[in-house]
Amino acid sequence: MTTYRYSDQAGNHAAVLVAGGAGFLGAHLCRRLLEQGETVICLDNLETGSWDRIEPLLADPKFSMFEHDVVEPIRINHSLKEIYNLACPASPKHYQLDPPGTLLTCVYGARNLLELAREKSARILQASTSEVYGNPLEHPQHESYRGNVNIVGLRSCYDEGKRCAETLFADYSRRYGIDIKIARIFNTYGPGMSLDDGRLVSNLIVQALNDEPMTIYGDGSQTRSLCYVDDMIDGLISLMESAPTFSGPVNLGNPDEATIIDIAEQIQALTASAVPLVRHALPPDDPMQRCPVIILAQRHLNWQPRISLSDGLRHTIADFSVRVSCV
Ligand code: NAD
Ligand code: UDP
Repeated sequence: MTTYRYSDQAGNHAAVLVAGGAGFLGAHLCRRLLEQGETVICLDNLETGSWDRIEPLLADPKFSMFEHDVVEPIRINHSLKEIYNLACPASPKHYQLDPPGTLLTCVYGARNLLELAREKSARILQASTSEVYGNPLEHPQHESYRGNVNIVGLRSCYDEGKRCAETLFADYSRRYGIDIKIARIFNTYGPGMSLDDGRLVSNLIVQALNDEPMTIYGDGSQTRSLCYVDDMIDGLISLMESAPTFSGPVNLGNPDEATIIDIAEQIQALTASAVPLVRHALPPDDPMQRCPVIILAQRHLNWQPRISLSDGLRHTIADFSVRVSCV
């Protein structure tokens, strides 16, 4: 694959920059923005992103790719109206490969993109996470909950990096009047996740399709609230387009909470698979429960998830089936 570098080919309209646009959520977002007629610049260092995801978009003259690390200062010739910051590995398997690198990606990435927003007078959205709540002592989680994060744990490079990025966003807004939005994204899944992503849904679907035992960490009684990717993209765009008076932080997620065992059993049923569940040790600091309160999103964004877990898993399994059979 020839590296296609950003060269101001995106035309003259103020563009939307998607940092992390070659990742799972980023590629869905780039595609949706192009469908809405936007000029889109994807900025990505391809750490966990892939060319395969954005290759189909390169045919569109309104799309361009800028291969760059957000840790380094960012220079873009084009005028920008909006910046989405999704640039950070999201799966524990990936963000724990280089913990200092993950933390610096969160912090310097936020700083460099905020500086770019300042220079371009662009609105900027931070893809934060439910991980800012850590292993929550309050359930379900309201935005007002301040969290329970182990500062020196294996997950803290990500959790504290994301918390610090939120702080930078709030401070840039107060100090320089930057128009910011902060989304606290809860676990999101769907077509296009990497087969080796390492997160729950992708692991279990690949295992079921390959007739391998499904890996359950701990006793599987911990919960997650899984949001289908199309719903999440709707939420992110609604937040970006929301009134300047509303910055968040706002929870974006599906409040339909399920245990890991429930999710595994649904995947078994939908793949008509009889593979056994095999227990592995629970990773340290693995949050025991996660469920968003989404009243703020309903009220300010008129947003709530629409796709049920069973429908979302069905679409995801259909996509994975094609790709697993090609490996
Ligand atoms: P992903 O790993 O698939 O995508 C992240 C993208 O960022 C990749 O394309 C990667 O190459 C790029 N990237 C990483 N470090 C970079 C750097 N230093 N410079 C430039 N690009 C870099 O993850 P995802 O699931 O698409 O998540 C996207 C964003 O949403 C992340 O910031 C993540 O923290 C956040 N988020 C996702 C979820 C979820 O469930 N998917 C939940 C909470 C928050
Ligand atoms: N998990 C699991 N089996 C797997 C992958 C994950 O049981 O193969 C569990 C993990 O321990 C956690 C939940 O599923 O409790 C969600 O994990 P994931 O990595 O998807 O996201 P997290 O919310 O932990 O960041």
